Amino acid sequence: MRIILKNLTKIFPSRNKKSHEEVVAVSNLDIEIPDGKLIGLLGPSGCGKSTTLYMISGLQKPTSGQIFFGDKDVTTLEPEHRGVGLVFQNYALYPHLTVKQNILFPLQNLKGEEKLTKDQMLDRAQHAADLVQIGELMDRKPNELSGGQQQRVAIARALVKTPRVLLLDEPLSNLDARLRLQTREEIRRIQRETGVTTVFVTHDQEEAMSISDMIVVMKEGIVQQIGEPQSVYDDPGNLFVAQFLGTPPINTFDGEVKDGKLYIGENAVMDVNVPDAVVAVGIRPEGFIPAEDGKLCGKLINVEVMGRDCSVVFENGACRKPSVRSIIDADIKINAGAENEVRFDLKRNKVFIFDNTTGDRIRF
Ligand code: ADP
Ligand code: MG
Repeated sequence: MRIILKNLTKIFPSRNKKSHEEVVAVSNLDIEIPDGKLIGLLGPSGCGKSTTLYMISGLQKPTSGQIFFGDKDVTTLEPEHRGVGLVFQNYALYPHLTVKQNILFPLQNLKGEEKLTKDQMLDRAQHAADLVQIGELMDRKPNELSGGQQQRVAIARALVKTPRVLLLDEPLSNLDARLRLQTREEIRRIQRETGVTTVFVTHDQEEAMSISDMIVVMKEGIVQQIGEPQSVYDDPGNLFVAQFLGTPPINTFDGEVKDGKLYIGENAVMDVNVPDAVVAVGIRPEGFIPAEDGKLCGKLINVEVMGRDCSVVFENGACRKPSVRSIIDADIKINAGAENEVRFDLKRNKVFIFDNTTGDRIRF
């Protein structure tokens, strides 16, 4: 099911009775979600991800704008008629019901043409449970399951009505690191197997990057960039997106363009074809090449060996953080000179410059 969000806005009245300031949770959102894809809705806490998801599900009504499922305008359609399955961070299982009863629950109130016989319901529940690999646990209660198993039950419950759209709101946040990795791969597998159009909300960029066909990066209710994870990483539209994606994060410097040269501090690091300006410079950790006559210099703090790669950490006065972190092939020898000076050349496609006021990308 293709989903189109058109100019979608959600404004909440103030929670604080004294001030009448409204909260613009989502502002003029325009997204087209292709059929059968997994979309990662990504951004820091409070940027409007859940609100967007709840509007797609129908639990919240937009202040303005429209939502289409296929060609049908569903903006005012009640949630139960939208054919969506919703999974929350806290699983929201019924504690007094068994796994089987939890999964059966959404099927029990179907009416009219949708109504199922008891056997059909049991078949559907077992099929959903097998899909998420908890078919053996049907008679347990939620408190007899691990967090990861509980989240699988919640996913099975969302899938049992064979929804047209699956919506997941930070589904992995309550799991420990290893389960989080495993469960996100499971979600990807289930999504591929069912082909259900899926919107996956997370504040974790690595999580979104690793499983999404397409990511939507949001900030303060406004979409910053939409695209395939790798292309958004390689070609960020603004400083916020550049800083939000990537571990270790991009290094940000105060810079200046003068007479066709980009300066970081005193160092003219590369030729650029843009007008003179004070700028922010972002350099990805993998953008540094150690070189004795390199153009960017710094003072070596530490080399952390991590097997295949190593992290070379150094100081540079123009960096907006106390240290710069670069990732270098571990075979390359780092020679620090007098007073621990290290020098680097830069990979041109790993260096980005941004307008110092708006944060917009300046292409050079
Ligand atoms: P996210 O899921 O990205 O963390 P939310 O969509 O939950 O963000 O919230 C976006 C903004 O809207 C936040 O500033 C939040 O405080 C506000 N908000 C969310 N729900 C309500 C509500 N029911 N009433 C008032 N403000 C709300
Ligand atoms: Mg949220």
